[in-house]
Amino acid sequence: MTLGRFAPSPTGILHLGNLRTALASWLSARAAGGRWLIRLEDVDGPRCRRDLGEAQLRDLAALGLESDAPVTWQSECSAAYRAALGALHAAGRLYPCACTRKDLQLLASAPHAEDSLRPYPGRCRERAWEGFDRALRLRLPEGPIAWEDRLLGFQMDDPAALTGDPLLFRRDGCFAYHLAVVVDDGAQGVTEVVRGADLRPVTATQIRLQEALGLPRPAYAHLGLVAAPDGSRLGKRAGALGVEALAARRVSPAAILGWLGWSLGCLERPEPCRAGDLIASFAWNQVPAGEVRVPEAWA
Ligand code: GLU
Repeated sequence: MTLGRFAPSPTGILHLGNLRTALASWLSARAAGGRWLIRLEDVDGPRCRRDLGEAQLRDLAALGLESDAPVTWQSECSAAYRAALGALHAAGRLYPCACTRKDLQLLASAPHAEDSLRPYPGRCRERAWEGFDRALRLRLPEGPIAWEDRLLGFQMDDPAALTGDPLLFRRDGCFAYHLAVVVDDGAQGVTEVVRGADLRPVTATQIRLQEALGLPRPAYAHLGLVAAPDGSRLGKRAGALGVEALAARRVSPAAILGWLGWSLGCLERPEPCRAGDLIASFAWNQVPAGEVRVPEAWA
C-alpha cells in the first residue's frame, strides 16, 4: 500500500511552492488508494517553532489536506535517532567532526535554494571516536549511485561530490536533517517521497544512509520549484503567498487548489475546486517537471 507524506520544517509559512508539494504528495497517495501523513521536521535548532508548525497544519487543513495518522513532530522522536546513531557506530560508519560551528549549521540544514550546497571535504575522516556527544558524520562508501525519479527519470549521482559525508548529529546536540528524515521515513513505512527539486541533490546521500541502516528505498519525485511571474526566485515575496495572506486578498482556498491542481496537470484551467476533485485526474506523467510561475495577480 502506498504511504505518502508531507514533511515541512516549521520555520515559516507554507507558500505556494510548499503547498504544491503537499498537494502533489497527497494526490499521488490518494490516486493510488494509499495513505498520507504529515510530519513536522522540527529538529533543526531554534529556527523551528511550534506555533509555525501549528499554523502550517491549519493551512493544510484549510485546503482539505489532513494526516491519516496523528501528526508527528520530530522533536519528540529523539530515541529513534539515538538508536540509529548507535547502530551506525556499531557498524563503524560514524566519525567525530571538529569543523567549525558555522560550517556545521550550513551543512546540517535542508539545503533550500538560499543555501548553496557544499560537499563536506572529509577533513575529519581519520579522527578517532570520541563518544556520542560530538558532532558526528556518516562515512559514505565510494562511488555513484543510480536512482529513479518519478518526474525526472533515471538519475546517477555521486554523493561524495554533492554533499560529502553528511552530518548526522550536531555539536549543539541537535539531530541533523538527513538522519531524522531517513529514520522517520523508514520507521513510518513511507513508500513515496514527494518534495521540492531543491532537495534532489541530497537524495543519493539519503539513499546511502538508508542502506547503512538497512531501510527500504522509497520512490522519489522531485517537483519543480514555484517562481515569481518573471521567473526569478520567490525570495521574500513567498511570505505573501500563503493561505492566510492570500485569503486576506480574497483568494480562497478553492482558488488556490484550482491553481495548484492546474499547475500539476490535473485541470485544463485554474478553476476553484476541492482537493478531492483532483484525485481522478492526477497522474505523474502529466505533471510538468519544470518550474511553474505564480500568477501575476497574486505576486
Ligand atoms: N523538512 C524538509 C523541508 O522542509 C523536507 C524533507 C523532505 O521532504 O524530505 O524542506
